[in-house]
Order: sequence, then C-alpha cells, then structure tokens
Amino acid sequence: GEPLQSVAWPSPPIVAGGQHVVVVGGGDTASDCVGTAFRQGAVRVTQLDIRPQPPEKEDKLSVWPYWATKMRTSSSQAEGAEREFQVATLEFIGEDGALTGVKCCEVDEKRKPIAGTEFVIRADLAFIAIGFAGPAAVGPVSELAGQMKIAIDSRRSNNVEANDRDYKTSVEKLYAAGDVRRGQSLVVWAIREGRQAARSIDEALMGSSVLPR
Ligand SMILES: Cc1cc2nc3c(=O)[nH]c(=O)nc-3n(C[C@H](O)[C@H](O)[C@H](O)COP(=O)(O)OP(=O)(O)OC[C@H]3O[C@@H](n4cnc5c(N)ncnc54)[C@H](O)[C@@H]3O)c2cc1C
Repeated sequence: GEPLQSVAWPSPPIVAGGQHVVVVGGGDTASDCVGTAFRQGAVRVTQLDIRPQPPEKEDKLSVWPYWATKMRTSSSQAEGAEREFQVATLEFIGEDGALTGVKCCEVDEKRKPIAGTEFVIRADLAFIAIGFAGPAAVGPVSELAGQMKIAIDSRRSNNVEANDRDYKTSVEKLYAAGDVRRGQSLVVWAIREGRQAARSIDEALMGSSVLPR
C-alpha cells in the first residue's frame, strides 16, 4: 500500500542543568525526574503532588477502600526536592514561547481548587509525570492510528488495541506489545509481551514457531 509518512520525533535533548525545575506528579517516575534533574545540576527542583501529605506513621486501623499510607522519601527526593502536597497545577506560564512559571493552587480533599490559594512557582523546565492517567492523544501512536486506522482501546487510556494471545492489532501484519498495548507498566511486562509477540509473528510467517511461549 501507500508508504507511511515518517512520524516527527523529538528535538534536542532536555537538560535540567542551571534550571528551575517543576515536576508534576508524586510517583516513581516523578522521583526519577527529580533525581535526574539534580544530577544534571538543576538549581531548584519542586515536586507537586495532588494527594495530601501522608502521616509519618501509617494508620493501621485503616480499612478498605482506604489505604494505610505513610510519608516516604525516595533517595532522589532526599537530595533536596521541595515537595508540595495537596496542590493542583492550573497553568503553565511563559514569555516569548519559553516557560517561566507554573501556576498552582491548593486543593480540598476532593481535589477541587480552593479559591484564593493560587501561587506561582518559578520554572524554566517542567515535567508532567502522571503517566497512569494515560497518554495524551497526540504523538506517534495517534498519528499512526490516524494514518493506518489502528483500533484504539479507549477503555484503557487510548492504548493500541491488541489481545495478549497473538498481539495482533486491527491492521493486518501489525502487532503491538508493551506499554503501547497495556499502558504505563513495567519492564518485565514489556519483555514478556515482546517475546510472546515475536512468537506470534513467527507463527504467522512460518506456520509454527520454535520460540518459547
Ligand atoms: C521515568 C520512568 C521510570 C521507570 N522506572 C521503571 C522501573 O524502575 N521499573 C520498571 O519495571 N519499569 C519502569 N518504568 C516503565 C518502563 O520503562 C516501561 O514499562 C517499559 O520501558 C516499556 O517498554 P516498551 O518496550 O513497551 O516501550 P518503551 O521502552 O517506551 O520503548 C518504545 C520505543 O519505541 C520508540 N519509538 C516510539 N515511536 C517511534 C517511531 N515512530 N519510530 C521508531 N521508534 C519509535 C521509542 O523511542 C522507544 O525506544 C519507568 C518508566 C519511566 C518513564
């Protein structure tokens, strides 16, 4: 058929050295952003978490559906990140196309903004580390989905639709495995799915496969 148009793929490396950095998100990926920014020589790193600050000790009497959380500090955060809890990101502010700050506000227990609590954190660089909310519907997958009419699994964060038996997408001879299929996940799953997809492709090409299941 028609050759695919090439998909634009990023630009120059992002380096945090000498910059004021804001990381949106409170998970492991956010921690990696914090640590990497410090190692690259960031001037200041602020991490925003929409959840309330957990207690120093877990409440052992918490019952389902509540989770007995406690305050944890990763080795990256211990390097000096300023952590803001119960804070939402309202707006990225810029001048002449360059980021200058992140406008935030405090939120109530339902994560709704509290009027009058807005503040701006200086930022030259911001990372959005909220992958579990699903990928933005832009970028290579969406572009290819549009070009090739690949079915998207809208129930699971706009991932490419494919099952975990043969990894076939809705487009003939196109397979999907790993994060693009199952969403933000772990390396072990990506390896397993990659192997199983390879076997499925081998079977389709050769009629059978000697690759392990
Ligand atoms: C900051 C961070 C920390 C993480 N920490 C951990 C951890 O500690 N432990 C863990 O198990 N998991 C971790 N994960 C998750 C883990 O990295 C992923 O689950 C895993 O990498 C998924 O593998 P994948 O092969 O499906 O996708 P990816 O590793 O994302 O590989 C996709 C590849 O496709 C390439 N690509 C994209 N578009 C195109 C195109 N059009 N043409 C050609 N190439 C293209 C990309 O450049 C990339 O190399 C982390 C993720 C992040 C972001």
